[in-house]
Amino acid sequence: MKPAQFRHRFAFPRHGDGHGENGQKIYFCGNSLGLMPDTARTRVEHELERWAELAVDGHFNGDPAWLGYHRTLEDALMRLAGAKAGEVVAMGALTMNLHLLMTSFYRPKGARRKILIEKGAFPSDRYAVASQILLHGLDPSDDLVEFEPGADGLIDDVAVADFIAEHADELALVMWPGVQYATGQRFDMARICRAARDNDVPVGLDLAHAMGNVPLALHEWGADFAAWCSYKYLNAGPGAVAGIFVHERHAEFSGPRLAGWWGHDESTRFLMGPDFEPIRGAEGWQVSGAPVLNLAALAGALDIYREADIDSLQDSETDLAERIAGIVDALPGEPLEIVTPLERSRRGCQLSLRVRAGREQGRAAFEALQAAGVVGDWREPDIIRVAPNPLYNSIEDVDRFGAILERSLGRS
Ligand SMILES: *Cc1c(COP(=O)(O)O)cnc(C)c1O
Repeated sequence: MKPAQFRHRFAFPRHGDGHGENGQKIYFCGNSLGLMPDTARTRVEHELERWAELAVDGHFNGDPAWLGYHRTLEDALMRLAGAKAGEVVAMGALTMNLHLLMTSFYRPKGARRKILIEKGAFPSDRYAVASQILLHGLDPSDDLVEFEPGADGLIDDVAVADFIAEHADELALVMWPGVQYATGQRFDMARICRAARDNDVPVGLDLAHAMGNVPLALHEWGADFAAWCSYKYLNAGPGAVAGIFVHERHAEFSGPRLAGWWGHDESTRFLMGPDFEPIRGAEGWQVSGAPVLNLAALAGALDIYREADIDSLQDSETDLAERIAGIVDALPGEPLEIVTPLERSRRGCQLSLRVRAGREQGRAAFEALQAAGVVGDWREPDIIRVAPNPLYNSIEDVDRFGAILERSLGRS
């Protein structure tokens, strides 16, 4: 596969008057909100039509009937997650889902009370784990353990695995990212899951920046659970329905959970009985009726991934981040430090670039990039993040970016 093979399927925001070769933005912000695929629009419009025509009958009639709509996404999600049937479901929103899953899998007991996360975790994740600790009457200042990165801002996978082994008798949960949002570092998820499993510590993965970006093998790695959002690399739109993975070994889970009728056995759900009988597997964690219009946008986004194989997005041919790294390295005076590790196994398509001159000049350069039509993002205090997505970004995008970057840093 070549980069940008699916470019014509995505809507690009206009730059300036929208004309000429610079009429489109150079969109490197798919790590925050992916571009809209044409199939998202057609799928949503289709369900709006069915609502107009069928109204309540749409729940049970048509193909697919809304009642089972989420199940039509399962095969595509299974492939992206590296999961087996019954292990994944599209539902809810990322942070909410983390709460649902931690309610089931964070069960502090005796000395095993602590949650291990990475220092500098995405704020919502930190709020979520800290509040889960509080819910158990415990104190985050004792029981939230934040693993410190090295001087380069990165975390050594082996050191994490060793830490888990050494501190297993205090840990009740390892909650780890697949790709770290700020640094772009991809972790050795297999190793971290194995360390947790070998030491009987439950392990959950936050795949916000990994899903649709890097290949995953959740079943094989043995994570207890995982959660992701779908508006970043999956391109399912603002507020898109998220997704969860629960490993097959928990298919008959009988522990605590925050139950709702959509997690109840479908064959008896509408008998409206008083007792909760969960669906086997991940679907048992569903709470509310599925948001079909929102699922339709996700279905459209996954249509792209039915054609674009995630493994082929890792080819050197599609590796636009590497091309950006080459451009950054060649800038006179080395104005930018590449924070993200460059080995292919240790990153996805995001590069985090630290402006050596500091915040003020960094902001000025970032604003110059924006004015010239580059959409990336800024992370305080001095980081510019760019995430060229090989689904829709091209080599030309990268080369245009290179020229604008050099000008923006005031070096040409
Ligand atoms: C994007 C992101 C979120 C956002 O959470 P929502 O519940 O979808 O708003 C949370 N955690 C991480 C690590 C993220 O990258």
